[in-house]
Amino acid sequence: MSDIKQVIIIGAGASGLMAGIMAARGGAAVTILEKEKKPGRKLLRTGNGKCNLTNTGDPRHAYHGTDPGFAARALDAFSVQDTIRFFTEIGLYTTSRDGWIYPYAGQAESVLACLLREAAKLRIKIKNNETVTAVTKKDDHFDVQTSTWTYRADSVILACGTAASLVKSQLPCNGLTLAESLGHSTVPQRPSLVPLVCEGAEKKGWAGVRIQGTCSLWSEGIMLASETGQLQLTEQGVSGIPVFNISGRALILMGGGLPVTLKLDFFPDFDREMTQAFLESRRILLGTDDMKSILTGLFPEKLIPALTGGAHNIAELTENIKACTLFVKGSAGAGSAQVLSGGIRTYEVDAATSESRICPGLFITGELLDIDGACGGWNLQLAWSTGANAGRHAAD
Ligand SMILES: Cc1cc2nc3c(=O)[nH]c(=O)nc-3n(C[C@H](O)[C@H](O)[C@H](O)COP(=O)(O)OP(=O)(O)OC[C@H]3O[C@@H](n4cnc5c(N)ncnc54)[C@H](O)[C@@H]3O)c2cc1C
Repeated sequence: MSDIKQVIIIGAGASGLMAGIMAARGGAAVTILEKEKKPGRKLLRTGNGKCNLTNTGDPRHAYHGTDPGFAARALDAFSVQDTIRFFTEIGLYTTSRDGWIYPYAGQAESVLACLLREAAKLRIKIKNNETVTAVTKKDDHFDVQTSTWTYRADSVILACGTAASLVKSQLPCNGLTLAESLGHSTVPQRPSLVPLVCEGAEKKGWAGVRIQGTCSLWSEGIMLASETGQLQLTEQGVSGIPVFNISGRALILMGGGLPVTLKLDFFPDFDREMTQAFLESRRILLGTDDMKSILTGLFPEKLIPALTGGAHNIAELTENIKACTLFVKGSAGAGSAQVLSGGIRTYEVDAATSESRICPGLFITGELLDIDGACGGWNLQLAWSTGANAGRHAAD
């Protein structure tokens, strides 16, 4: 038997490629098995093709899950600064937009190309079109089964990601089943960072409007979250970063049988009183009591009918603008989501090493874990951190 550790990684996505590089740097022989015909398919779609790879802001409120502290512990072991240093070392020049870090080249392709160049340098084998169907733990090794071969490994890194954004031909996504077969338990997965579908949105006629605003999440009279940024109004409801950031919580509440409401504020820089005074001044300035006419020149034309609906005076108009209420029916689905919440229970995994506490020698990384991040590079950061921690320790 050779002394060189054999590490098999399931999935050549963000966390799998990072894990492979770290394991190979640690002296392991690394093979990555990828079900698609090319590695890093999802990575290429990140940040609208520009890849927001991390964030230099405060990560404390960026993660959700049963134990969000898991993310903090994983980032303690491999931090945002470690990530930026790693990418600099492998030749990726980055740039910051208010702390959101992107490749200077403006292309996700550059991120993938640098990872693949480093993987090739380290002689990592990447086998495409290899779907792993089963993993079995033997006394001193693992058997990793695909339709063509059984691979023997000292350590296995499960880096399969989730079904978020996958098209039908890319399903099923079996990371959770593989983990369950090795003794792990899971929290149900739900779309997160996803457009929300709302009652009556199709009647608003606002599809295609993009506007700065605040979206707050309400249930049973209590405001639970509020996010400001560019709202994208759709035929079915609402989308955009503020909506993405509260969508996961909205769907978890709905899963628990609670009613969920969104309140959209289309004039977030002014409070109610100031908005009403401002609209009143426009009524006088323009010499009209016609609600539509008062809003012309202030809001996009396509949004005005939705804002004036039912308003007979400035007070009612103010209410429509500051608290446009929508009842949430659901989400646009996993195929439209950037990530899924839920996944493998994090108390079954050591955050500092990504090693399973249930099945030693098994490591679990990235989105498969019951942690999901806000928009801004936090999901990829979790993939880099958990991948690097797993790779380093799998090679030990
Ligand atoms: C449209 C979109 C935009 C996004 N933009 C951003 C962004 O800008 N910033 C950010 O931080 N996050 C973003 N995300 C989220 C981010 O892409 C993911 O959180 C991250 O890629 C997760 O990494 P991962 O390694 O866990 O999984 P993935 O990157 O999904 O990799 C998993 C890999 O495993 C393979 N695989 C699965 N099952 C098997 C199997 N049985 N056998 C072999 N291979 C298998 C898959 O084909 C895949 O290649 C975005 C996501 C989407 C969909």
